[in-house]
Amino acid sequence: MRIVLVGPPGAGKGTQAAFLAKNLKIPHISTGDLFRANISQGTELGKQAKAFMDAGNLVPDEVTIGMAKDRMSKPDAEGGFLLDGFPRNVSQAVALDEWLKAEGQQLDGVLDLEVPEDEVVKRIAGRRTCRNDSSHVFHVTYSPPEQDGVCDVCGGELYQRGDDTEETVRRRLEVYHSETEPIIDHYKAQGLVVTISALGKVDEVTRRAMEALK
Ligand code: ADP
Ligand code: ADP
Ligand code: ADP
Repeated sequence: MRIVLVGPPGAGKGTQAAFLAKNLKIPHISTGDLFRANISQGTELGKQAKAFMDAGNLVPDEVTIGMAKDRMSKPDAEGGFLLDGFPRNVSQAVALDEWLKAEGQQLDGVLDLEVPEDEVVKRIAGRRTCRNDSSHVFHVTYSPPEQDGVCDVCGGELYQRGDDTEETVRRRLEVYHSETEPIIDHYKAQGLVVTISALGKVDEVTRRAMEALK
């Protein structure tokens, strides 16, 4: 299966992607996680991305699209993948359409996670992320780790992402509305979009998502 997850920052895309990828036996590909891994490794790509991410803006397409294609071309993604955070604007969506076409593939669905803005703000304000691997995500009240400040998955240190501040979140939400939401219409025209509510417990949302993707 080839699936795209869409939703505002803090909707729970990463959290759901981890469970969905496991259930569907496809790799979870998050461009945000890829950028953060590059930043912590000090790569050239990480250096190019950092200032845009800190400001809550999109990293330029020239950097992002190449990185996404490289990742989707890895052997583990041959049978499908779950994209989280990509595409994030219409030109990335068009680039993905073209790439898939050239590969003789197509998307099976676009899962749109709907969450009210006040809930998104609460989720982001309490989000704690693992320094070793930013796909390991917790929340100070909604899903606290066993031990304060320590990742349950790998024992890494939990921290608050630099772009999870109130000011940057506001900017990221603006960017979501102006640049990312239009991809939903792009995919509606292809008949691919299923929208679910991302409110409620994590496992309830996963159940809803699995049902919607059937
Ligand atoms: P969230 O999960 O809160 O939506 P992400 O981890 O997906 O955050 O993204 C964090 C930041 O990484 C974005 O604000 C943006 O700067 C950058 N980013 C991630 N994916 C993309 C993309 N597809 N295109 C451009 N920038 C991206
Ligand atoms: P995104 O990838 O869309 O930015 P995350 O998966 O990182 O979102 O989730 C944002 C924050 O909300 C995290 O702290 C996560 O633990 C928490 N969270 C995820 N799903 C839920 C849920 N169903 N209810 C409450 N909090 C949630
Ligand atoms: P209650 O059990 O008090 O009725 P809920 O279970 O609906 O409340 O959850 C209260 C808040 O915690 C909601 O924002 C919900 O999205 C969030 N939440 C519930 N379960 C989880 C979970 N496993 N991980 C993260 N957030 C969760």
